Amino acid sequence: MLRIGEGYDLHGLSRGGPLRLACIEVPAAVSAVGHSDGDAATHALCDALLGALALGDLGSHFPSSEERWKGVASREFLRAVTGMLAQRGARVVNVDVTIVLQAPPLAPHTEPMRSALARELAIAKEAVSVKVKSADGLGPVGEGVAVEARAVVLVETPG
Ligand code: MG
Repeated sequence: MLRIGEGYDLHGLSRGGPLRLACIEVPAAVSAVGHSDGDAATHALCDALLGALALGDLGSHFPSSEERWKGVASREFLRAVTGMLAQRGARVVNVDVTIVLQAPPLAPHTEPMRSALARELAIAKEAVSVKVKSADGLGPVGEGVAVEARAVVLVETPG
């Protein structure tokens, strides 16, 4: 059976880089505020994967109230979620991630992002899309005080 999942995340930004997005480090004058490393793209992707199998959300599995997740690399969350899907015999067909950030421009980083996510998901890079946008100067993302990410995934399950 094919199942779809959707994920969304928003993190505030503070002075001082680097910025972690889609399991890579982007040189930037800002970094994301968060209990973990604040990787909004990976968090949105994890939520989409969990959503595809109706397994709750990222916060229910890795509560930000727990000290052990403080400062943890979000690739650890993605590995854990990928493992949960594999345990259920689920196969990720493709993922599509959109990151919205005013600055710096993320276009030079989409290929390394695709590679990093594909590696963690253990799927072909061709099945991983990363799209980037600015917010046209509008809203908190446009004002440069937040980063936003969305993800959609398709997962094939045995039953
Ligand atoms: Mg988050």
